[in-house]
Amino acid sequence: MRIIDVKTHLLEHRLDVAFESATMRFDRRIHLLVEVICDNGLVGWGETLGPALPNRAMVEAYKPFLIGCDPLETEKIWATLYNALRDQGQRGITITALSGIDIALWDIKGKHFNASISVLLGGRYRETVRAYATGSFKRDGVDRVADNAEEMAGHAAAGFHAVKIKIGFDPREDLDVIRAVREAIGPDVRLMIDGNHGYNASEAIMVGRAAAEYDIDWFEEPVVPEQLDAYRTVKAGQPIPLAAGETWHTRWGMHEPCATRAIDIIQPDLCGCGGFSEATRIATMASLYGIRVVPHVWGTAVQIATALQFMAAQIPDPVRNRPQEPIMEFDRTENPFRQAVVSKPLEHTHGIMTIPDGPGLGIEIDRNALAAFKMKEQ
Ligand code: CA
Repeated sequence: MRIIDVKTHLLEHRLDVAFESATMRFDRRIHLLVEVICDNGLVGWGETLGPALPNRAMVEAYKPFLIGCDPLETEKIWATLYNALRDQGQRGITITALSGIDIALWDIKGKHFNASISVLLGGRYRETVRAYATGSFKRDGVDRVADNAEEMAGHAAAGFHAVKIKIGFDPREDLDVIRAVREAIGPDVRLMIDGNHGYNASEAIMVGRAAAEYDIDWFEEPVVPEQLDAYRTVKAGQPIPLAAGETWHTRWGMHEPCATRAIDIIQPDLCGCGGFSEATRIATMASLYGIRVVPHVWGTAVQIATALQFMAAQIPDPVRNRPQEPIMEFDRTENPFRQAVVSKPLEHTHGIMTIPDGPGLGIEIDRNALAAFKMKEQ
């Protein structure tokens, strides 16, 4: 079996209402899918995290290295692509594009061996996973405090055991949001806060100390990802566990935050950190330091399926009779192609998601949806 082609699919949707995190503004959803095609007709699918147009250019740049390769040789291919750009490409778009390719190769591998990727990774510990709802962005034209509280109450009513809200805009207003959301969801629903690296260390410490009384499971990306010393300062200065990792890449990028205990929870994104091949290494490394692994997810059903396959095979750590189970980030913001790209949507039922057990990622791509949401070239 040999790779004969690599294609990219740019998908776009203009939002009805634009929204913001602390550091980004979204008026459209744009995501990139990667399709790897083999000479025997097998096709694998992957997805890349982050800016879709640069990712597309990078996947195109990798294509000459892939044509003619045996797609089952995932480690060899990963190392070949990484080494090709190593000197100037140890993080960023080089790795997010490599991630999409690696995921597609694992999809092919699963289809070839007629096994789900989670089986190939070592076995399925679980058939379902609890999801947590991610939302509460700052939407244009509405009162943020009331809007966030209403939205999160809706997710709690839909059965989610946990919700994650966006802060990092303004410390005082953010605390108003946290208080209002806690009141709206009641005492039993778990609550996480995500700063999207909008604070400096002293702001993050103030917010963490004040927010602790609202029973927060983790404080995500309080400060910019390059400032690991600021992470350690924030961790020492307030009581909420710290989480981060969606902007770090590869085992090398994840090592120092783990080894220096800058964080309590690491959040590799399978579509950004280097695909299945690298995420498994990152999880192994995190286990050396007792760091909890909770993958970051922000994409289409291809990424959702990717995260679900990875989570199915996540080894309980620490081992105990009632281990802490992985939880799945489930983006609740507007994106009509999120589920449309697959023939069978990967939805939740009362906050629980079933992990596909078909070959590879366990999904079937709907090519009509790819055509319907194809990005119009500028
Ligand atoms: Ca985040």
